[in-house]
Amino acid sequence: MSNPTLQAVRGMNDILPDEAQLWLWFEDTVREWLESYGYRNIRMPLVEPTALFKRAIGEVTDIVEKEMYSFEDGLNGDHLTLRPEGTASCVRAVLQHNLLYNAPQRLWYAGAMFRHERPQKGRYRQFHQIGVESLGFAGPDIDAEQILMCARLWKELGIRDVGLQINTLGDVASRQRHREKLITYFEQHTALLDADATRRLHTNPLRILDSKNPAMQDIIAGAPRLMDELDAEAIAHFEAVKAILDQHGVAYEINPRLVRGLDYYNRTVFEWVTTRLGAQGTICAGGRYDGLIEQIGGKAAPACGFAMGIERLLALLQEDGMKNPLVPLDVYLVHQGDAASKLASTVAEQLRDADLKVVLHCGGGSFKSQMKKADSSGALCAVIIGDDEAQAGQATLKLLREGGEQVRVATADLQQKIRELNLSRG
Ligand code: ATP
Ligand code: MG
Repeated sequence: MSNPTLQAVRGMNDILPDEAQLWLWFEDTVREWLESYGYRNIRMPLVEPTALFKRAIGEVTDIVEKEMYSFEDGLNGDHLTLRPEGTASCVRAVLQHNLLYNAPQRLWYAGAMFRHERPQKGRYRQFHQIGVESLGFAGPDIDAEQILMCARLWKELGIRDVGLQINTLGDVASRQRHREKLITYFEQHTALLDADATRRLHTNPLRILDSKNPAMQDIIAGAPRLMDELDAEAIAHFEAVKAILDQHGVAYEINPRLVRGLDYYNRTVFEWVTTRLGAQGTICAGGRYDGLIEQIGGKAAPACGFAMGIERLLALLQEDGMKNPLVPLDVYLVHQGDAASKLASTVAEQLRDADLKVVLHCGGGSFKSQMKKADSSGALCAVIIGDDEAQAGQATLKLLREGGEQVRVATADLQQKIRELNLSRG
């Protein structure tokens, strides 16, 4: 059955029609949700100059160190990368087209991202994100808006059991102070550091705090805390975010160890986490990145954003027993004989003119075999046209569910009858 020589790339999934129906439903829901907050869609290329990600994400992050699909353009030698995330591309596009400095921007995008990770449930090499970026906003109100948006989406999707974790990373100066203290501290305990931590000690010591290695937990617990270095402004910003969440009854847990994987974050960071997807429990993550725009060559401007992993969200919904929705289909059109087939093809187009969803049987075969296909198509009804019907300008309309009654009607009355059926179906 399967052909071992022709398989998709490991970690890159086909989404087959049954499941794609769930994706379509999800995308419709998400789009309405984004519009309800006035966010506008932006679409960037899948491939960007490698330098963009190195500069935006940081040279010593997991993504840039080991997860990027980078290659040289065989024709001109350019260094290119399949985008591992959307924020860098989005900011690049906004700067390139001068969108930002006339008005702040609320933007969203959706699409495939690529990371060379070890594939497992909820972790793929091509995966999909919905990303939301608010550019040009400095205040805590927009951080809170983004978190409230997420809470609303979970409600609309029927997702339960996701917890919100928040933290503040402070600003550049306090992070720098904290960084120095961390290095000093870990230098006093080099014997206890694992290989990753040793490598990161002088490049990205903050990431050591993020280590999942059980043997490191004690020394991490005793490390200097960023909380103790925060400036008054950053504290006030964080307090204001929390106050808005409180006002809306959005529960959160403050997680001082939440540092996020990418370099560009400052102040508010947040993650929505479930315990039900094993180690791949983060379904949505983001925060403020006031330094990024300047870092990739723009005039400094504040910003914040988040991204959610569609595969993980859908996995959660499926765990909750959500089934793939059916392809919505009103009519399967069955026909036999030259005159009947000719009429059927006209009728099919007329029904589509009336906004009905119609499959016109193709490929001939007996009435019996065509009716079998009609039954398994999921259509509300079959419209049957044989020679008899064709001569009379009529069709037989057969309900494919509940009782299966059938009536013969003039083709001109078909759409009216089908609508009545549709209504009685509820
Ligand atoms: P993780 O800690 O799970 O590796 P991350 O911090 O690398 O996640 P982000 O870069 O913040 O993830 O991406 C935002 C979201 O995209 C994640 O919360 C997750 O839902 C999803 N995501 C990230 N990497 C993958 C992947 N390889 N496969 C599927 N979804 C992913
Ligand atoms: Mg990751």
